[in-house]
Amino acid sequence: MSYLNDKLKLLKKNYEMIFKDSYSQIDSAVCNLSEHDCKIYLENRLKKFKNEAVSFINDLKLKSKCSGCGICCRFAVSEYSYNELEQKAKKGDNYAAQFISIFVPYDSPDEYENIFPQYIKLLSGQKYYVYHCPKVTEDNKCPEYDNRPQICKDFPDNPAGFLPPSCGFMDWKLKSEPVWLKLRAEIEIINYFLEKI
Ligand code: SF4
Ligand code: SF4
Repeated sequence: MSYLNDKLKLLKKNYEMIFKDSYSQIDSAVCNLSEHDCKIYLENRLKKFKNEAVSFINDLKLKSKCSGCGICCRFAVSEYSYNELEQKAKKGDNYAAQFISIFVPYDSPDEYENIFPQYIKLLSGQKYYVYHCPKVTEDNKCPEYDNRPQICKDFPDNPAGFLPPSCGFMDWKLKSEPVWLKLRAEIEIINYFLEKI
């Protein structure tokens, strides 16, 4: 079992615990409320938690810094082939359009297998494609750093995503992940309760 497989299992376990905790809090808070008050409680709770969680995650990210390992420029994974991404971009998918404007596919797995091997083990058995940015320099610099594309500026955009151990955002990820998981759980549960009203 690889290091990232263990991480994935732990992530799922943590999400289940957070989900159960939020569910029982929300359930006991709304059980005696009228439909009208229940709706107001749920909407306010979600709004408040969303604002707090997003501020916490963003503020903490501003205090973190890229350590310049270059891995995210050399190891961009997609479930889509280059042709599929081109088709998606033609149909108006903005992310796909940006992705193929930056990244190109590797010619062979030999070229990327040693970049983030833990991630490759995690993807074993799945359909995936690995891309790289031809612009990154040998010493891991971006020649257009100040004008780099938005998806490069946004990376890493999800605290629950897997980062290489060398990433300067690892501390941010570890501290933000539980808040992000709780936000996902609150959204899922509150939408469920709102649909039932
Ligand atoms: S454009 Fe710059 S930051 Fe973005 S992947 Fe390429 S080298 Fe990295
Ligand atoms: S993986 Fe993290 S530290 Fe490495 S280049 Fe990307 S953002 Fe910077």
